[in-house]
This record gives sequence, structure tokens and C-alpha cells, in this order.
Amino acid sequence: MGGETQMIPSPGSASYPKLARGPVGKQIHNIYRDRLRQFTDNGQYRQQSLRAKFYHARIHDSTHVKLSVYSPPHLERPTFEEATSHEFSPASLGDSFGPSWSTHWFRIHLTIPTSIKSDGHLEFHWDANNEGLIWLEDGTPVHGLTGGGERVEWILPEKWRDGKEHIFYVEMACNGMFGNAPGGDSIQPPKPDKYFTLHTADIVSVDLEARALYIDFWIIGDAAREFPEDSWEEHEALQVCNSIMDIFIEGNGSQESIREGRKLAQKYIGTKVDSSKVYDTDYEAIVSAIGHCHIDTCWLWPWAETKRKIARSWSNQCDLMDRYPEHRFCCSQAQQYKWLEQLYPSVYDRVKEKVKQGTFQPIGGSWVEHDTNMPSGESLTRQFLYGQRFFESRFGQRCKTFWLPDTFGYSTQLPQLCRLAGMSRFFTQKLSWNNINNFPHTTFNWVALDGSQVICHMAPDNTYTAEAHFGDVKRSVTQHKSMDQDATSLLVFGKGDGGGGPTWEHIEKLRRCRGISDQVGLLPRVKMGDSVDDFFARLEKKAENGTEFVTWYGELYFELHRGTYTTQANNKWNNRKAEILLHDIEYFATMATLKDTIKGEKSGYSYPKKDLDDMWEAVLLCQFHDCLPGSAIEMCYDDSDELYAKVFDTGKKLLKDALTALGFVDINSSEGRLTGLNTLPWSRKSIEEFTSPVEDSTHGLVVGSTGLAYVEPLESQLTGNSLACVKETKPGIFVLSNARFRLEVVAGAITSLYDLYERRQLVPPGSKANQLVLYDDKPLYWQAWDVEVYHLRSRTELQGGESKIVESGPNRVAVATTTKISEKSWIRTTISLDALEPSVRTRDSTTTSSTSTVDPCPLASASHTITVSAEAEWHETMKFLKVEFPTTIHNTDATYETQYGLVRRPTHYNTSWDMAKFEVCCHRFADLSDANYGLSILNDSKYGFATQGSTMRLSLLRAPKAPDAHADMGRHVMKWGLLPHQGPVGQESVRAGFEFNYPVRIRRFAGKDKELGEVGVLLRSLTVESRSGGLVLDWVKRGEDDEDVSRREGLPVREGRSVVVRVYDALGAWTRGSLSWGALPVRKVWRTNLLEDDEVEVPTKDKSIEVQVRAFEVVTWRLQL
Ligand SMILES: [Zn+2]
Repeated sequence: MGGETQMIPSPGSASYPKLARGPVGKQIHNIYRDRLRQFTDNGQYRQQSLRAKFYHARIHDSTHVKLSVYSPPHLERPTFEEATSHEFSPASLGDSFGPSWSTHWFRIHLTIPTSIKSDGHLEFHWDANNEGLIWLEDGTPVHGLTGGGERVEWILPEKWRDGKEHIFYVEMACNGMFGNAPGGDSIQPPKPDKYFTLHTADIVSVDLEARALYIDFWIIGDAAREFPEDSWEEHEALQVCNSIMDIFIEGNGSQESIREGRKLAQKYIGTKVDSSKVYDTDYEAIVSAIGHCHIDTCWLWPWAETKRKIARSWSNQCDLMDRYPEHRFCCSQAQQYKWLEQLYPSVYDRVKEKVKQGTFQPIGGSWVEHDTNMPSGESLTRQFLYGQRFFESRFGQRCKTFWLPDTFGYSTQLPQLCRLAGMSRFFTQKLSWNNINNFPHTTFNWVALDGSQVICHMAPDNTYTAEAHFGDVKRSVTQHKSMDQDATSLLVFGKGDGGGGPTWEHIEKLRRCRGISDQVGLLPRVKMGDSVDDFFARLEKKAENGTEFVTWYGELYFELHRGTYTTQANNKWNNRKAEILLHDIEYFATMATLKDTIKGEKSGYSYPKKDLDDMWEAVLLCQFHDCLPGSAIEMCYDDSDELYAKVFDTGKKLLKDALTALGFVDINSSEGRLTGLNTLPWSRKSIEEFTSPVEDSTHGLVVGSTGLAYVEPLESQLTGNSLACVKETKPGIFVLSNARFRLEVVAGAITSLYDLYERRQLVPPGSKANQLVLYDDKPLYWQAWDVEVYHLRSRTELQGGESKIVESGPNRVAVATTTKISEKSWIRTTISLDALEPSVRTRDSTTTSSTSTVDPCPLASASHTITVSAEAEWHETMKFLKVEFPTTIHNTDATYETQYGLVRRPTHYNTSWDMAKFEVCCHRFADLSDANYGLSILNDSKYGFATQGSTMRLSLLRAPKAPDAHADMGRHVMKWGLLPHQGPVGQESVRAGFEFNYPVRIRRFAGKDKELGEVGVLLRSLTVESRSGGLVLDWVKRGEDDEDVSRREGLPVREGRSVVVRVYDALGAWTRGSLSWGALPVRKVWRTNLLEDDEVEVPTKDKSIEVQVRAFEVVTWRLQL
């Protein structure tokens, strides 16, 4: 039984047809995905695609767009006023303009046609494939143009729809975003004769709906392409996109079909993407998107162009902020703000207003985004001092985050200096370019030599110029390496390097990305409206609440761009010389302003603050990360040469003024006591060559403590065992010796270097120290930047020519050798050895009236140095010249001087991390020591070094051909020294490094002996002593805010006078010592940070304070007089 069951239809299935209507196939995934391109491509279906619907009308007839032009001569870049005062001649579309780097001012008479005056959105489009800036008739710059289809539009003012003619200007710059390289390879030297055709100058009526659908489709299409194929979200995206296309085709591209398409898109991106409200949800976002525009202060274009790039880029950002309330833009480099303030006051005012509103966010705290490998410690300090003071004076705020996304490696003391400059946070990403090892962290504590730390974040998207693509957001998680501690990250987006910054498209795309995260999920949730500091503040909070971020101790060595320690040698030489000159000027100028405290009478001398600021700002500017490293085009080095020349001119005058105020006159003066000026904080004893002979002597013995040293002309007729002698023992074999060393020189190479005290040979048998070697130097791509590991395979020893004795003693002996490098290049090296105290004979050795008043000092380290001076004529192509020193010393680590300390690096290639350091940066010396003995190689203005096993190599000259075709060609003067020493690396090397670089300045004192005594007391008033001998009094200057120093630029002024003293531990030891100030009438002493904020008052006792310094710590005190 059972009977029939009544069929009761279940709810919902009523419409499910009983019979199949026909076959339905499974979509072939990749075909349906590849189809998407048709909708938005510029290809063969353009006219049938959404792209064809972007514009209702495009007008460029000469009735509505009338063009005339003024082309300034000689590549000049005139101001608006100058340019517009000239006659303009007619111009039209299709005309071409040039050559490279020239400027052309266009006057545009524009009338909006009646036919479109009621249309929704009107723009002016301009494109000549080069950069430009739109100016209103009243001289206000309003909008930057990039060219080449990128950022070509400017929204026309509403009030111009009045049917009348309106005038505005375009300042056309004949360079692209990345200069004027020929063809597609942007690092090739610029072509001087490029011309640019003006192809677009149109009034355009835009269909905003079509444009919006385009962005919807782009981002959903990315989801279809980039989400994993095993996710439903990927399949859904593909369906939505295909449906949008179907509707568009069905509606024949009608407005209605576009609106329908947008509705379909909402299924995937939600309903709120047309405004910043898309971000107003309760969900927590983990990716903080921040707009940024990296403008290289110089690179493939000169500074003059950068100044315009700033106005172009930043005016656009202000405009975007008006239209997109969520937009936040962070921007570094005080120098760029200063240029804007000087050259584009109206744009600067607009920026200032946005800073006040919190949307335009100054960041970085430094003067420029500088190189961190080569500037001295004090230069790094001044980058922060000048940067932070600028931001504070102009915007009432200091930066908390050090921002340096594009610099070629990060030296080990930066975290300490950041902390001392009020910054606890550091942002970068450049290590993602490492071509050997993958840096393992995204968010971590970066720890300096002294133990100071900053919280460091390296954007996981591995760029500071993200296009705000779907993929950028996605990679913010997929490439995040620190998610065990924290999954949040920064997404730094906006056109960069050549400037530009975010575009409206970027911001629109991010709205849709956020829409996807909230609507369908899977994509990391992005947010806008935050600042970088908000982001870091949350990380710091987490750390405070117990999250243990991993640590990285020591330098963030960049495994690429190692050639930048050597390229553009002249620029590097200028950098070091300028740093030393500034040191000496600030020391003497400080003392000159305090002379009255000893003498009791006021002098007319005042601290030359403005000139010093100008010098510092120039030096800091030239430390920009494409300038000092040598990776800019030739024009940039013409610029920096000019700036350095000015620095040295001003410096020479300032030095003379300060010394005159102290009573010193030129060595050539007929009267006055011969004196040496020693600005180093310890006694020196050395033999110096006079710039012009004194009596009959060419050399003098210089002996003395800080400040004043006594100079005795040396007699040149004596001989004796302890003096320096030289002999040609066999043809071509020269033996140089003094009381300590015996050297054998053959063809310019040192075949034996024997320490007579230690009875130790430094050159292995059969080896040659001071051997010049040439390498083939063709890196994978970045010529000026890189030297690649395989260059080591091409080592060629250069054969020295005939040597001859050029100085034969008794105070100094020298042997010179000319070595042919090629048919076009040569180098002449002179190895010299000085006599050693106490046997040097002075003219006064019988009376010793003056020398006897000087403390006897132990053998000065400088006299232990074997000096090699060199002159080279260099015309090579892609070759690398080094000088090498094989040694008998064995150690797995070598030591290199860095800013305010020492850094150790391996001499072996055990791991890929060790091997990556096959070429490294050093400051004044590099050292290889065992427990008992070592060799320091001193240098004058060189930075590249390598220690491979027991062989040390100083890098001298490179010959890259891009981006400067003539980099380093021509004449070079160089100097290096060998300092064999007892014991491991220590004070002797540190001091020798200083002495090798800091000249003793020889002058005459014009006043009476009593006055000289007083000046001597003044000059050596500041002393630092420590038992370890590791404390270095590195810098003396006047207080920035002292009432007689301050330039009153909006920062508080302090009453009275103060002296700022900077000291560091150079050896890496906790040290107790003292700082004393002798005759200076110091009332109070404050320990300060680098910005000279008083932190702690330090108790004084007997004109001194007790000092305790951590290993490699940098300490600043302000002595209030
Ligand atoms: Zn850069």
C-alpha cells in the first residue's frame, strides 16, 4: 500500500524549471578574466570600451583656446613677473619646444564654449610630454602638470563658465619627470637637445560617472586577477566584472548602462565609495595609507628644477586635500620647504594652512633626506638641528619620525642621534632592494652602538611610491615580516622620485579597496586620515603594553650601491674639507667671542651666525642622498662645485676674521711669533710643511696642546740614525727608515715594512703593500651606484715605473713613483717617512726657550704614520682603482671608523650576510689588528674600503658612465697613511685619523708675548679627560639661541652667552672623566640634547664637571656663561 503521496511544492523552488533550457558551460576562467582588459584598455577596442565614454566633448580650436609663447634665452628660468613682462608670440598645437632644460611660458586665452558651459565637470588638459606649472593671471601658481598622459588635467574654475575670455599661463619645463635621458633608460646621461611637441591644449567636458565606473572596474578586476583562485571572493569579482561589461554592451554604452554598471559594482565594493564616508565604519583597519611625494633634491635634474618640482607637486596636494577630506600627505626635507617659502610664497602659505589643519604633515626632522654613510657625526647632528629648528620655527612643531625611505644604507649611530634629536621613530624601505639577503623584519627596534633604540618600520609593500593598487594593499600583509608582533603597516603612496605625489586616482582606488574589505573581505583593510605619527604612536603603545618587538643591533647595511662610497671623489673631498673647516671656524669663532672674558675688554667681533648657517645649509644640502653618494647627473656636480666654492670662500673669510680677532696674522707677515693652531682636543707633535718658507726652512716641528702649538723651523743639514734616511740599496730598491720603521720600496710598492721596536714584519713574504690594483667595474645595472661582487675576479696589479728619491731627510724622506694605468691614465705616489722625536733637530734646540714651555708629549701618532700622497690623471671607462695592503695580521673582523664610533665587520665570507659586505664604508680609518698589534689605514676624504682575509684595500677612483658620463675624469689629489700600532685598535688610531685630516694651521701672532699667553689660555680652556682616553671633545660652538647669536627666526632667545660642547666615547667603553673650562667664567652647566634643549643641570666643582659616558655615547653640554 503506501498509496500516492500528494506532491506539495516546497517554498522557493516554484520557479526552478523542471526542464533544462539548454546547455550552460563552466566558464573558462582565464578567458573570462582576460576579457576584462577590453573594457578599459587603450588597445584595439578603445572606441567600443568604457574609455570612449570618458569625455562628452573636447575643444581645442583657436577661438576657444588661444596660445602664445615666450621662450627665455640661455636655458633661463625666469620668475612669473619677469617672464610675463615679455612679448609673447603666437603658438599652436603641434609646435615643438626645446632644447632640454629650456623653459617656455605660454599665455592661454580660454573661452568656455556655450555648448558645454552647463556640463557637469570641465577640465583643461595640457600635454607636451614634459613638466609644467599652471599660473593664474595674477601670478598665483595653482597646479602642476607631469606630461606623457600623467596628471595632464586641471579643473577649470566654476566662474569661468561666463562665456568670457580668461587668461592663464603654463610654465613649460623641457624635461620629463625623470630628466632628459635618451630612450627608455632613465639613468643614461641626459640628452642636451631634446624637443617636446605640444600635442594637447584642450577644454574637456568629463563624464564623471564613466570615470568612476572605470575605477570601480579597475579595482574589482584586480580582485579577479590577484585574489587566490581558490577563494570565492575571486570568483565573485570575476562575475561582477563580466556582468558590468555585459550591461554596457547591451546598453550600447549608454549613460544608463554606465549607471547600471556602477550599481552592479556596489555588490562588491559597497555603496559608500564615492566619498570619504567609506572609511567611517566600525571595522579596524590594519593598513594606514599615507600620501607622499619623494622629490629627489637633485638627481637626474639640477636643484633649479627641484625648486619648481616642489611647487608643482605640493600645489596639487593642497588641491587634492580640498577635494578629498581623507587625504593626508607627509613630506620631509626642510630645505624644500625653505625653497618654497622663498620662491613660491603663495603656495607656501597654502601649505602652511594645511599644516595647521593637520592634512599636510611635515616629517623627517632633517635638513634633506641625506646620505647616512659618509657625513660626519656632526653633519648628522646638524641635519637634525637645522631640520628640526626649521620645522619648529615655521610650523611650531618638531618631527617625531625620522623619514629616510631612499638612502643607501643606515649607519649604526642613527638611532642614538634620532633619540637625541627628539625622534623615537624611523621609517625606511630601501633594504628591500638588497640583492643578496632578504632583510627579515618589517617592524622592529633598531639599536645603536650605545644601546639607544628607535622603533623602525619598513613598509611591507617595499616602496615609498606605491600606485595605491589593489596589489599594494594586498602586499601590505603578504610581505609583512613582523606579524608575530603586529600586523599593521604603512602604505606610502604617490608618484615619487621625480615628484608628483598622490593623484585623484590613487585616492579613488583606495576608497574602493576599503569598500571591498568591508563588503566581501579578504583584502587587508586600509584606512586614510591617519598620520605616520598616529601609526607609530600605536606601535609604541603596544611596546609599552608588553609587545616585544624584535631587535636589530648595529648598522642597517645596504646590500647594493656600494660604489657610492667612492663615485664622484671630488664631491666627497669637498664634503670632508667643508666639515673640517666648519669645525675649526666654529671653534675659533666661539673663542673669539669669549676673548673679553679673559682680556676684560669687549672686542668688536661677533659670532658669524648667518654665514655659518649659509655654509652649513650648503654642506647639508650637498649631503642629499643622490649628491654626496655620486649618483646624480653631471649638472648636479656643477651645482655642488659652485656651492662648495662659495662655502670655502666664506669659510676662508670667517676663519681669517676669527683668527684676526684673536690676534693672528698670515704666515707671510713680516712680524709676529710663528704659531701653530691645533683645533684637536689633545697635544700634537708633527712635522708640517710650510706654505711658504720661513727663514730658510721648508718644514717646522709643531708641538703643542689644544689651541696653540709652538712651531720651530727645522734645520735641514743634520744626519743621524734616529732621523729619517733613505738609500737606494740596489738599483730600484729603496730603503726608508727612521727610529721605528724600516721600509723597502720597489716600484712604488712596499715589499717590506718592519717595526724595529716590535721586531715585527707587516708585509707577508712575496707580497706588496701599497700595491695599486685595477678592477673591471661593470655592475648589473646601476653604474654610478654599484660595484658588484664579481669585480673582485678581475684584479690586475699595476706595474709601477721607476722610483726616485724626492726628499732625502733628515726630517722627512720620500720616494716617488709614477705608475701607468693605461695610455690615458697615470698615478704618481709619494711614500714619505718622517723623522721621529726626540731626535728631530730644531733651529732652537740649544735654547729651547719656547719648546720647553710645552708639556712634553709622547711620540705623536702622526709621526708614526707612513704617508702616501698621490696625484692621478684618470680617464678610464668602467674601471675601479684601489690600493691594497696585504698584512701579516689575522682576525675574523676588521674595524672601521664610523660617525661617533667604530663598527666591526667580517673579513671572511662565511655566510651570505658576511659576503655581502665585500665593500664597506669607513670614515678616517680602517683597522686590522690582532690582540697585540695592528695596522690602521688612514685616509683623506675617501670612504670605500674592503678587508678580505688579511688584505686591506682602500678604494680610490671609479669610472662609471651613467648618469654622469664624465664622473671622476681628470686630475685627483689623494692621500692615505699606514699606521702600524702596538695593541689592538684604540686611541692611537682614532687620534691619528683626526690628525691625518685636521691641519695644523700655521700663522703668526701679531701681539705681545703676554697676549699670546692669554690667547693660549683661552684656546685651551675646554678640556675633556678620561682614564680610558676614549673621550673625544668633538665640537665646540656657541649656543644657537644665545641673544648675541640667534637670528630670531621664531624660536626662543636665551639671555647671556653659552658654549656648546659635544663629546663622545670613541672606543666603546663606559667611561668616567671630566670636562673642565679653565678660565672661562661658566656659571651653570646643562646637559642637553642635540637640539640644545636643557635637560639636566650638572653640578660643577673646581671649574669642571664629572662626566660619565656609556660606550659610544654622544653627550652635549651647554655651558652658561
Ligand atoms: Zn631619492
